[in-house]
Amino acid sequence: MNHKIFEGIRTPFYYYDKELLERTLDAIESCTAGTPMKVHYAIKANSEPEILRIISSRGFGADCVSGNEIKTAIECGFRPENIYYAGVGKTDEEILTGIDAGIGCFNIESLEEIDILSELASERGVRVTVALRVNPNIDAHTHEYITTGLKENKFGIDLRVLEDAIKKVKASQHLDLGGLHFHIGSQITISEPFKILCDRINDLQAQFRLDGIKFRFFNVGGGLGIDYDNPDENPIPDFTSYFDTILSNLHLEEGQEVHCELGRAIVAQCGSLISKVVLVKKGLDKSFVIIDAGMSDLIRPALYGAHHKIENISAEGLPTDKVYDVVGPICESSDIFGKDELLPETRRGDLISLRSAGAYGSAMASHYNMRDLPGVLIK
Ligand SMILES: *Cc1c(COP(=O)(O)O)cnc(C)c1O
Repeated sequence: MNHKIFEGIRTPFYYYDKELLERTLDAIESCTAGTPMKVHYAIKANSEPEILRIISSRGFGADCVSGNEIKTAIECGFRPENIYYAGVGKTDEEILTGIDAGIGCFNIESLEEIDILSELASERGVRVTVALRVNPNIDAHTHEYITTGLKENKFGIDLRVLEDAIKKVKASQHLDLGGLHFHIGSQITISEPFKILCDRINDLQAQFRLDGIKFRFFNVGGGLGIDYDNPDENPIPDFTSYFDTILSNLHLEEGQEVHCELGRAIVAQCGSLISKVVLVKKGLDKSFVIIDAGMSDLIRPALYGAHHKIENISAEGLPTDKVYDVVGPICESSDIFGKDELLPETRRGDLISLRSAGAYGSAMASHYNMRDLPGVLIK
């Protein structure tokens, strides 16, 4: 990375590599062109307007989880009919935002929500398309805070009441059943959970066909993981294997579509959090590199013990033979980006890059400690 482009910019800031984002989108398109797969971008991963415009210009749909995300998606060029709205606790105001905008689908997460949505659609005198989010009880082998498809999770409708849910939707004049929705977790790096999900969907399709119920689409959610340890070797996730797994294991009927909602896999690798070394504190047992970015800028390490590759981009090419803990300035013991990191000799003023930070980085930034939000550079 040529750090000259970062000179004079106030740190910390997120740097997004536009070219890598475009190449990532190219890779997805080449896997899905001519298939029944439609890709929706999960905009909670990164809702930077310029990034949203790049993604929407490819004709991707958007997966939203709040009323404000719906509004932003529309402002940034996503077509309302390609916007899907999921969430366990949609407020009336948010639901009405979606109805009035004419979004393509509401992903319903409980029996209770069916009645609420039906009532609000009736008030507006419209019929809305829904998908039922099913909790398929699949272990995605990922962190407990980012697994979502186990039966004790708050997400989705339990398989045992799915039939009741379908009947309820069918009984409403204001709801149109489009399909079934699933999302089993995030940062999934093996194909097995996706294969099991396809088997589960095939079983459901066969089971409900006996009752004469047809689905226009299945939405397999997001969750494809990325290589946090080797961002330079694997800048683009293995989309070929992901889409092959889904398209070859799902038994789709004529005219049926399959949708997915990738977030992290699209934007994580194109982003880095660029920060400056405030000082190097020499402890008796350890040395600490204290940087001006903290958990308020990038909370993943503090929140779920995630690790982002750390590079000293001011000392590029020098031997990485010094050991440091790399920490932020915030008054929390969990404000740590790396323990016993191997770095070159590091000095006050050096620029530090925290890699693979394009997803759930800036989107989760806060003002904690009354800090400013991190800046943005898209190039
Ligand atoms: C967060 C989320 C996604 C995106 O997950 P990634 O792991 O970033 O791909 C997709 N669908 C739903 C319903 C989500 O909540």
